[in-house]
Amino acid sequence: MYNPQSLKAEEFISHDEIMATLAYADANAGDLSLVEQIIEKARQRRGLTHREASVLLACNDKEKTKEIFALAEQIKKDFYGNRIVLFAPLYLSNYCVNGCVYCPYHAKNKHIARKKMTQEEIRREVIALQDMGHKRLALETGEDPVNNPIEYVLESIKTIYSIRHKNGAIRRVNVNIAATTVENYRKLKDAGIGTYILFQETYHKESYEQLHPTGPKHNYAWHTEAMDRAMEGGIDDVGLGVLFGLEKYRYEFAGLLMHAEHLEAVHGVGPHTISVPRIKHADDIDPSAFDNGIDDDTFAKIVACIRIAVPYTGMIISTRESPACRERVLHLGISQISGGSKTSVGGYAEPEPAEENSAQFDVSDNRTLDEVIRWLMQIGYLPSFCTACYREGRTGDRFMELCKSKQIQNCCHPNALMTLKEYLVDYASPETRKIGEELIRKEIGNIPKEKVQKIVEENLVKIENGSRDFRF
Ligand code: SF4
Ligand code: SF4
Repeated sequence: MYNPQSLKAEEFISHDEIMATLAYADANAGDLSLVEQIIEKARQRRGLTHREASVLLACNDKEKTKEIFALAEQIKKDFYGNRIVLFAPLYLSNYCVNGCVYCPYHAKNKHIARKKMTQEEIRREVIALQDMGHKRLALETGEDPVNNPIEYVLESIKTIYSIRHKNGAIRRVNVNIAATTVENYRKLKDAGIGTYILFQETYHKESYEQLHPTGPKHNYAWHTEAMDRAMEGGIDDVGLGVLFGLEKYRYEFAGLLMHAEHLEAVHGVGPHTISVPRIKHADDIDPSAFDNGIDDDTFAKIVACIRIAVPYTGMIISTRESPACRERVLHLGISQISGGSKTSVGGYAEPEPAEENSAQFDVSDNRTLDEVIRWLMQIGYLPSFCTACYREGRTGDRFMELCKSKQIQNCCHPNALMTLKEYLVDYASPETRKIGEELIRKEIGNIPKEKVQKIVEENLVKIENGSRDFRF
């Protein structure tokens, strides 16, 4: 029985409800007046239910699809302006006891190099990341209670926050580790994490069990109910995602939105972010072995439909995607991207020797962070290293309230300018700095409040003179 308020995975992600949703979407995708009504609801920035959004995803009408894309672009501009927040992944360890068939870290893969960083190695990696200009990290580890216990993750977070190298600092550590207990989530919260990210991989229970044949991750309910435990443990910013390519994308899309509706219904706050990874080639993994891969057009439509269905939720894309694909979906709804990423354990301080490949997937965007920043500015975006909300305690429902009252615009834009200025002064190449300084001069005029504008101008001078870390 479908019940978004239930705490049981199979009730809030009800297979029957997803199948009924897909049938409803098939039956109504050609009803252009209904499609128009749904688009109109989205135009009013009211978001969409999983059923409504599924109708739009299934609709193949060319004109309506254009309207959906245009609306996604408009909502993106209204809520996020031209800002894009940057982050980098940091893999601590690739020891893993699970058997996920799409991931090279699965326990039976005997030829991948297994690594676990010591605190000293983490320190070196973090200094290298700070020297690139990063302020926001996403920590990743495999699941292994012996090699990667929660104490190791907590100690690593402490190490990362403690490092101050030149003007560098990691100001927000998001964490992507396996589903765990309320007690462990509470410990992560106390350690000062930003968002807790856990990809569902697939919402289809039967496929889920086949794709995760061994290890604790095999337990669908334990994994699917993890966000509820995280919230019970006090973490109120959680990040959802599926691995597109494992199951049929329309099934995953409906499941993802049902999960978001469930969090809103039970905890009063939806997901902070949604990630949209697609399966990629990696050691021991051939993506063509999975027959639900999606093409770039479908991928773009998924991004657009998520954007208009949950306008307040940030959307993340990684370097799994090529620069061209990243550019396309930036327009349609993505608000955060990684840059200069390494998907191996370590690899920022020194490149990993070819014979020691420990990467989780092949990167399709190999540009440096400086190149990514320059590219973003050249295509009309304002790169941001802002971490202000989390540090000002604007998380969970406080963050959502601020978003909904549109006041967030008076924070994000000035914070983007000030953190970009820090980047330009401390880390940028001369060419990037030149483009960035011009952009900042132009963008100051777009700060809505005159008083805020004045403060930003003063702070930019202070940054030039050596002060750091201003925020609204
Ligand atoms: S996806 Fe995660 S849990 Fe599964 S094998 Fe890879 S690292 Fe381990
Ligand atoms: S002010 Fe808050 S919402 Fe805006 S970019 Fe900074 S952290 Fe994100």
